[in-house]
Amino acid sequence: MATLQELPNFIGGEFVRCSRHIDSYNPATGKVHLKVPDSGEEEVEQAVQAAKEAFKEWSKTPPRERARLMNKIAELVDSRLDEFASAESRDQGKPVWLAKAVDIDRCCHNFRFFASAIMHTIETSTVQTDKGATNYTCRSPIGVAGLISPWNLPIYLLSFKIAPAIGAGCTVVCKPSEMTSLTAHLLAEVMKEAGLPPGVVNMVYGVGPTVGEAIVKHPLVPIISFTGSTLVGQRIQSVTAPYIKRLSLELGGKNAGVVFDDVNLDKCLPAMIRSSFTNQGEICLTTSRIFVQEGIYEEFVKRFVKLTKQMTVGDPTDSTNKMGALVSKEHLTKVTGYVDLARREGCNVQCGHGVEELALPERNKNGYFMRPTVITDVTDDSKLMQEEVFGPVTCIVPFKTEEEAVERANNVKYGLCACVWSENSGTTHRVAQALDVGTVWVNCWLVRDLNMPFGGAKKSGVGREGFKDSLDFYTEVKTVCIKHTD
Ligand code: NAD
Repeated sequence: MATLQELPNFIGGEFVRCSRHIDSYNPATGKVHLKVPDSGEEEVEQAVQAAKEAFKEWSKTPPRERARLMNKIAELVDSRLDEFASAESRDQGKPVWLAKAVDIDRCCHNFRFFASAIMHTIETSTVQTDKGATNYTCRSPIGVAGLISPWNLPIYLLSFKIAPAIGAGCTVVCKPSEMTSLTAHLLAEVMKEAGLPPGVVNMVYGVGPTVGEAIVKHPLVPIISFTGSTLVGQRIQSVTAPYIKRLSLELGGKNAGVVFDDVNLDKCLPAMIRSSFTNQGEICLTTSRIFVQEGIYEEFVKRFVKLTKQMTVGDPTDSTNKMGALVSKEHLTKVTGYVDLARREGCNVQCGHGVEELALPERNKNGYFMRPTVITDVTDDSKLMQEEVFGPVTCIVPFKTEEEAVERANNVKYGLCACVWSENSGTTHRVAQALDVGTVWVNCWLVRDLNMPFGGAKKSGVGREGFKDSLDFYTEVKTVCIKHTD
């Protein structure tokens, strides 16, 4: 049997072997495919010291040079597109074509976008006071940032943190999810090859409660950017409170789609299928509650179920498959548990788990697959409508009036995003403004621009990411007051 690859940590520009490891599974086969460092406080300490040392020079490096290195990183990732996409798929279970088109493409874009952004000065302010003084503000990078990312869009989300952080002049200690660390390792290889100075980016792998918590509690890490579950976000808020750290928390969602009966169903249905099931429904922005106006409810459900049944699920390396495997055995058990709950509650499981069989090739027989599932006849207070399932399970319910739809869509603790579908522009503006979420898509889904702020309302998070917001986040603003008359 071939020896399994052991990932090293990346500290101070060197690949450093860790003596302890955890198994990382390929979700499509159910087999261990990699050994990931099980780092702890000692490794975090080394990484923080390396980042602190590197900060002295990196924070003074001109934006033009930082931008050159970031563009080089993007170019090198691009040149290894197939390798990155295959690694992302083996780690997370998503189809290789999706990893190429979304995750790796977006990673390159993140580096290029922020490389360009830092070449354009963000305006600072100046005020002439009536007391004969000039006040102005200036910005400087904060220091060592702790970046903690989840498993669902591994390199997409990690690069969305690294690029603005190092672009702004911070140095970083990253902890990717213990389930999906492989593309972070490939990125570390690329950074070394690109000539990024040692210690600017450090990767310390392992589990959240040990290595993640060691980063967030470290007194020399004044700024934390976290993307993950609301539960862990709450934990980070509480353990960092004594240190008064700057926090960005991008957390869970329970996103609504609101479909009015004047909608163009030919356009709406395929988009809602994508928003429900892309990446096996493992996207924080997935639509998992679809409110449909009663005039078109029956037709919507019939056509939505028909399209769902046509979705192909299977080997992620087969480009004809729309969906791959869920990330882990435990997660599959959790997600299918919600479908079992729906049956116990008397809901109607229209298609998917427990209704249609999976047809899998031999190598995928032990993988973590499930069919996309549509549930109707569910009440708003059910866990299915209140909790984040984070899998390919969507509920469809009818509504009568606009006011009712808004009230019910807002009736969850989360507030990440929503979609509104209507041909009436008045309706779309009113509803978009009444929804308590960070992003509303009208007649579309996941059409995002990095220039715009991104983040959650309510328990979906604190802070915003995007061009100006991210660069603001990683910098401190100082006001200077110069008295020039007596
Ligand atoms: P998770 O919260 O379990 O883990 C996220 C990361 O935090 C992992 O790297 C994990 O190891 C680490 N971690 C766990 N405990 C920690 C602790 N005590 N201290 C520090 N770090 C710790 O989330 P997950 O299961 O990896 O990801 C799925 C969740 O992420 C979903 O809730 C999803 O909605 C959310 N998410 C949100 C966004 C967004 O932009 N709002 C984007 C993607 C995913």
